[in-house]
Amino acid sequence: MTKNSAKKRAARAYKKAHGTTYPEARRAVGARSTGDLPAPAADWTHWSSPWIRRIAGSSTGPEAITCYLCGNSTMIRAFGDVKDDHGRVELYCDNPDCAAREVELIVMRDGHSATFRRADVEALESIAAAAHHQIQTVDAPDSWVAGAVPWVRTADAPATCVFCGEQTCVRSRADVVDDRGRVQLYCDNPRCDVREVELIVMRDGTPRTAGRPDVLRLREIDEGPESRPSASSTGTPGLRVRRIPSPDEKLARRLGH
Ligand SMILES: [Zn+2]
Ligand SMILES: [Zn+2]
Repeated sequence: MTKNSAKKRAARAYKKAHGTTYPEARRAVGARSTGDLPAPAADWTHWSSPWIRRIAGSSTGPEAITCYLCGNSTMIRAFGDVKDDHGRVELYCDNPDCAAREVELIVMRDGHSATFRRADVEALESIAAAAHHQIQTVDAPDSWVAGAVPWVRTADAPATCVFCGEQTCVRSRADVVDDRGRVQLYCDNPRCDVREVELIVMRDGTPRTAGRPDVLRLREIDEGPESRPSASSTGTPGLRVRRIPSPDEKLARRLGH
């Protein structure tokens, strides 16, 4: 695929997600005007479909990638992954010896200002990574629990970038090692727009992870504020109701619409 067709695809997806006109979307994703010579192949450009979604179900792609937490080849797209959100991917580790159940990978910087304006990116910018768990060590290989060092921090070779599919994902210089549930990564592939990408474990079975301020904020963005119906409408005072939002609602909230 040429870079130009990747840009066209990105522009169509951008138009749909942001409700802009096509020319506006073309400008937003940095597409060339029609008639330009095709640019060299790009592995991922802003708002093009992430590699892991393109290979899912295809005969050429791997069944699973290496889990960033446990190092086992058991990491797959999560059931809740929002397929129209091209700046964020949700993954799941299928290894019973790994506690990582819900892992988000959120592009923090890709050279486009729309990325900086995302509500989830702003949330992670404003809530710093910090230690949330007692330090744990795991004896068994290919395993991980909350508080243990994520495999990607100790790996001796780059990990997979889920956006471009290359083995070019390394720790970012800004990565905070004290935080064992959140890792900042960097894609070193020059044909991939992804620069920093934040990995955050959203669910690992521990209340501490569920109650992290960054995890709570990301959930609030996706689900909206909790609504408290009046006692008269339900007959149950104080009942807190959370509606399950559609993928389109989640995407709109993440983009800050
Ligand atoms: Zn794992
Ligand atoms: Zn990449």
